[in-house]
Amino acid sequence: MSDEITPADSVPCDPAPAGPPAPDAPAGRIPVGVSACLLGQRVRHDGGHRQDRFVIDVLGPHFRYMAVCPEVGVGMGVPRPALRLVQVDGQGAGRRLVESRSGRDWTEPMRAWAAARVEALAGAGLRGFVLKARSPSCGMARVKVYGPGGARPDGVGLFAEALSARLPLLPIEEDGRLNDARLRENFVLRVFVYDEWLRLRAAPRPRDLVAFHTRHKILLMSQDAARHRVLGRLVARAGGAPDLEALLDEYGAGLMAALARPTSPRRQVNAMQHLAGVVKHRLEPVEKRELGGLIDEYRDGRVPVEVPLTLLRHHLRRSGHAWALEQSYLDPYPRSLGLRSRV
Ligand code: SF4
Repeated sequence: MSDEITPADSVPCDPAPAGPPAPDAPAGRIPVGVSACLLGQRVRHDGGHRQDRFVIDVLGPHFRYMAVCPEVGVGMGVPRPALRLVQVDGQGAGRRLVESRSGRDWTEPMRAWAAARVEALAGAGLRGFVLKARSPSCGMARVKVYGPGGARPDGVGLFAEALSARLPLLPIEEDGRLNDARLRENFVLRVFVYDEWLRLRAAPRPRDLVAFHTRHKILLMSQDAARHRVLGRLVARAGGAPDLEALLDEYGAGLMAALARPTSPRRQVNAMQHLAGVVKHRLEPVEKRELGGLIDEYRDGRVPVEVPLTLLRHHLRRSGHAWALEQSYLDPYPRSLGLRSRV
């Protein structure tokens, strides 16, 4: 267990962990927050867990998890009464976090605890967060909110709300959505790029920003060409910018906005064709046809993007084209994750 997990968040409320323990990530892995029950910790209100094999087995080797259970952290025990979000009108109107049976209101204690915990996580340099879906504390969207007319699935868990308000650029995803190949590829992409961005941001120099933007050019084009152009104009001003910090903040916000949604096959095809253009004059006609054919097969949904990308990498390596080989688009995260074999 990471030493960044406070006792109140995890260990004491986890008397009998189910399955393998949470990954004991060594230093050097990317710090990512996670709802503790997804690691198999028995912190749910009924003493159970929601262990997620993808979170543990696939992402675990790359992430240094910082487990958080807001309901245990705020002082509720295990087991404990179930909570839910309730829409309250009149005095104290708004969405309240209450015990389902007794109606005991945990809203203010949870808000205070979440603000302090999120502040500590921000100080720890968090790069992403995997939240448990549909929880009134951890759910990032579509949490049921109970009211006089029944339940509406349009709420946000109180901890999730505090997290995204304090760290608006932080890549956040839910366990259920990680079953979608495109969403999980996008989440992992955002975590790795955000990690690189925060390292640059810690010791910013205009020339490092230029190098960053150059290396991510094709990746940004493959995500959002319009934002890529806007970011390029910011980079061009970086050298003489009177307020480099403000410019960097603007760049960071634009960068993460560009990556916020999964890309489309059309944009992927454009990106690959752009890179193929770098080497096409060195390819034999038969090689050009082969590469173009695989890109077409990907566009038509017959092979995953990894198939044409593998051949493209091969031709780029053979050409020795330095700028193209540096492009993060070719391998934005460890290829061993295998995420592009499914999109
Ligand atoms: S969903 Fe959040 S509050 Fe509920 S058990 Fe899991 S970590 Fe704790």
